[in-house]
Amino acid sequence: MSRPTEVISVDPKQPDPSVIEHAASILRRGGLVAFATETVYGLGADATNPDAVMAIFEAKGRPSQNPLIVHVDSTEMAKSCVAEWPDVADLLALHYWPGPLSLVLPRTSRIPDAVTAGLPTVGIRNPRPLVAQDLIERVGRPIAAPSANRSNRVSPTLASHVFKDLEGRIDLILDSGQTDLGLESTVVDLTTRQPRVLRPGPVSASELESLIGPLRVVEIANPGAVDLGVLTSPGQLPVHYAPQARTLRVETPEDLARLPWTTDEFVRVFGSVGTPEEFGLLDRPERVALVIIGTPELPSLPAALTHRFHLPDPETAGRDLYVVLHQCDALGVSLIVIVPPPDRREWHTIRDRLWRASRPWRE
Ligand code: AMP
Ligand code: MG
Repeated sequence: MSRPTEVISVDPKQPDPSVIEHAASILRRGGLVAFATETVYGLGADATNPDAVMAIFEAKGRPSQNPLIVHVDSTEMAKSCVAEWPDVADLLALHYWPGPLSLVLPRTSRIPDAVTAGLPTVGIRNPRPLVAQDLIERVGRPIAAPSANRSNRVSPTLASHVFKDLEGRIDLILDSGQTDLGLESTVVDLTTRQPRVLRPGPVSASELESLIGPLRVVEIANPGAVDLGVLTSPGQLPVHYAPQARTLRVETPEDLARLPWTTDEFVRVFGSVGTPEEFGLLDRPERVALVIIGTPELPSLPAALTHRFHLPDPETAGRDLYVVLHQCDALGVSLIVIVPPPDRREWHTIRDRLWRASRPWRE
């Protein structure tokens, strides 16, 4: 399946039309192009071409039952993909599009089974960046675009993340720099009586509710904390978006002091989870990374730990969380210890992603 992967830089404020045309021609003939949206880099294919869509699944190693989000450049194009466009969709599109909100609606036959994993519905969104807008407009067709990473790995927020995961598997990467928001879109299902947030994201359930009230918006709870029963959306899988290093989360910054910082202590506490070689902490401080989120200051830490990352506020954490997780993998650490942010509304989306990327340090 190997194919050469071209990388072309493109100015996010003034995309070169000849580069956009080059990318559009690849998409028109059924190829795969990665491009930045405001959330993460997407891996695009012509959503109306089943073979092109199948190539996305192959390049990502994505299970075929995980549906793709279709990207459009206008509400008019969105309407060509759906069988119903309720008033609530109009309201949300008017307010949030272009933006990080995906709407799930009944699909038309324009959208093939491969895109929706056979579901009768399709997830649609209209991304804001000019590169994405120009590209979709130039192709003139909806573009299916999941995150441009190998399945179950951390989503890419830089072109170099895409290259590392998908080099030799896709035709082109348009490099327009780091994505603005850094977390995947909010997915809201409009096919039920009450709209349901299937995946939390940059647009919160309470914002949606204040716009579309008196309709109530149902939101799934923090997925790490609940038994989801039957999954309604694969983005709800409990382990998803995980780094390659073993990733543990403590509950509070104070727990850091209780972590077993030597190999012997670690083996005593964690028993069979790993070998001493894998888990030497202060014995092998270069193998450990600490990611502290949502505390204004760094707690006092063992001095030998040099790989430390601090994401103090929700905006920085949203933008840079995946950069940090990719960096931990690039550093070759075998253990990432995460201190998650407090259980408050503004941290909901970050906690959702952290819960899927990590396990509690005490099982
Ligand atoms: P991504 O991997 O970022 O492309 O996100 C795609 C996610 O959007 C899927 O894993 C689902 O959680 C959600 N999604 C897309 N289409 C649908 C659909 N028709 N019904 C429910 N969820 C969907
Ligand atoms: Mg993804």
